[in-house]
Amino acid sequence: MSEDAIQKFGATIKDYILEKPEKRPKNRYVNLLVLRELLSAARFTTDGTEANSAVIRIGETEETVGKLFGRKQVASDRRTAKAVQRALITDEMKKKKADWDGCSMEVTKMCQKCPECALFGSAASEGAVSMTSRVMYDEAYTIRSLSTVVEEFFQNAPGDAYVKNATSGIREPDFFKEGVLIPCVVTLKDVTLEEVLFFMNITDRNSRYGATGTRFGKVRNHILGVYAGGREGPSSLEVTREIILALAGTSDQEAIQKVMSADTLDLEKVKAAAVTGYEDLASRHRITSIKVDEAATAEVLDAIKEDSEVASLLTTQLGKLDDYLDVPKK
Ligand SMILES: [Zn+2]
Repeated sequence: MSEDAIQKFGATIKDYILEKPEKRPKNRYVNLLVLRELLSAARFTTDGTEANSAVIRIGETEETVGKLFGRKQVASDRRTAKAVQRALITDEMKKKKADWDGCSMEVTKMCQKCPECALFGSAASEGAVSMTSRVMYDEAYTIRSLSTVVEEFFQNAPGDAYVKNATSGIREPDFFKEGVLIPCVVTLKDVTLEEVLFFMNITDRNSRYGATGTRFGKVRNHILGVYAGGREGPSSLEVTREIILALAGTSDQEAIQKVMSADTLDLEKVKAAAVTGYEDLASRHRITSIKVDEAATAEVLDAIKEDSEVASLLTTQLGKLDDYLDVPKK
């Protein structure tokens, strides 16, 4: 069962992964094409009130869309990754470092001993050396326009008057509505098979990308394909543009506006457009890669759905980190 899918996956991408993490860059890339689907309203704001947005251009059309910052995706994935590690390999970690009690999210207080720190990087604390992240995220954008995907709420100030004037309300944080789709390309650089699997598992199980400590922002991450090669894949923005053009069927402004202001989008059509769009872009940019499609990716995810499987791959990865994490003493 499971072993087969993982072995097949490892064999397919073998030229673009490493046996062990190395200190010098090797330029081997594993790109994941992910479609994040909001299952509940989410708050993606920087100032706590206004939804993050950006103006993008598709052909001749300029439009303001919702934006999900790369750093928000990183923070959310790292929280999940650290929680998984703590739950699954605390005993193994304690064998390496007796006082290990999980790993902090605080930038300069990360343990620098765990598979998560090794993969996602960490800033230097006293006497230590910073580790560069081998996971690269970029800003991602909604397919539909900001005015279509965001809801603004105003709380009316309590008072006696039946009729309130429009400015008396208190602005509440903007919400991205449920159903919003955000295509993302995430790139892993110079990683091992265990790190690819760990990252896929985190992506599959991470279901919150909104502000921390709220019940908002439930997300389903669809991994549409894994593309391994010698170069980084197209950006999330480029993929979003391709999806819009594909759904419109033409670069005609009116058709594009119609897609971008639609109440809903068909998930399966968007998935198909994302895959075709990604692959067309890659070919236009002369990026060659080995592809593992959504169905094969699902088989791999299935093979590591048990915590025991994830614990075992993290333990294997831990054993590969000694040289990589070995910091020369002054
Ligand atoms: Zn750590």
